[in-house]
Amino acid sequence: MNIQNETLKHLECSKCGEIYPHTEPQNVCTACGKPLLARYALEQLAGTWQRDTLLSRPASLWRYKELLPISNPEDIVTLGETMTPLVHAKRLGETFGLTEVWVKDESRLPTGSFKARGLAMAVSKAKSLGLKALAIPSAGNAATALAVYAAAAGIAAHIFMPQDTPVFNKQTCQLAGANVTLIDGLITDAGRIVAERKEQEGWFDVSTLKEPYRVEGKKTMGFELAEQCNWELPDVIIYPTGGGTGIVGMWKGFAELEAIGWIGKKRPRFISVQSTGCAPIVKAWEEGATEATPWREAQTVASGLRVPQAIGDFLILEAIRKSEGAAIAVTDEAIREAMQLLPTTEGLLTCPEGAATVAALKQLVSKGMIEPSERVVLFNTGGYQS
Ligand SMILES: *Cc1c(COP(=O)(O)O)cnc(C)c1O
Repeated sequence: MNIQNETLKHLECSKCGEIYPHTEPQNVCTACGKPLLARYALEQLAGTWQRDTLLSRPASLWRYKELLPISNPEDIVTLGETMTPLVHAKRLGETFGLTEVWVKDESRLPTGSFKARGLAMAVSKAKSLGLKALAIPSAGNAATALAVYAAAAGIAAHIFMPQDTPVFNKQTCQLAGANVTLIDGLITDAGRIVAERKEQEGWFDVSTLKEPYRVEGKKTMGFELAEQCNWELPDVIIYPTGGGTGIVGMWKGFAELEAIGWIGKKRPRFISVQSTGCAPIVKAWEEGATEATPWREAQTVASGLRVPQAIGDFLILEAIRKSEGAAIAVTDEAIREAMQLLPTTEGLLTCPEGAATVAALKQLVSKGMIEPSERVVLFNTGGYQS
């Protein structure tokens, strides 16, 4: 066996600090019910791991292996998670009077969305722990990603998602041989069903932030961004927020990079974007609250943003607040309009969630919240699907 130097130390509750071993399957903190986060031997890495080592490694998220939770390379389940391009959207920027608008184009990943990052990590960890059946509540793209990674690993996938989930997601899950249950409700209702049945069925729950390793996959967006910006983080990140793993992951990833001495103190202002049809984080941020209240009758064209309640709400809000960012809502009408802006100016096709960041940029500029020369990064979290 090819075991590398273990850098993952343990899991720690994000709220109460309780410690859990990573050598056994873990969900949330059994003491307070909040998400567990992976902790690494950062002091040890600080003196020994140099940025230059990356230069000779493949352009994949696995290049950051020292800060990833998989220690045995044989456990890695991969479909080719390429580093995604950071595209200078010059013509789009000009239309808003900005010179430094960039798009991190996550549509290039397996399954066409950044959910591949999280599920590659969660399924690899599940494999290393010998798990045989995984269950997930999903608004769509996480289901597709779990279905294909589980198939590749030879692990069963049990998927629960809303009846009106995009056809692409329903079909891809079927094609990959997952067990799919369509429910009359939203992702939160699907989550309840998984929670009720998992024990009896012997499923391991891989819900966002109720499973500790998806966020580790998502944080690699931040690692790539830092590396692509030559270790000088941008001024603003505009991110379409559902369960919030991306924001929480990048915030965590930046702290880790600082701890090992690869970046300085500067952080981008995190702008969390939601739809006016489902904006629990925006509402909480506007009210100055540290937690969000569940959104009722959530509805939006951006299915990835249709998350009425996020278990990591306090972590999302903390990252927004500490980064001196903001949370803003855009209407579905503005999202539909923005669907054409990146294709027509840059030739980049976007998902509705990615278009929401363009609609948000427009709003931020009109409110004077971005300076003309600031470097702004929009996350196009997935590709266009009809
Ligand atoms: C899941 C999803 C989101 C929301 O991501 P979080 O990191 O969970 O907030 C945004 N866009 C797309 C395309 C998604 O699939």
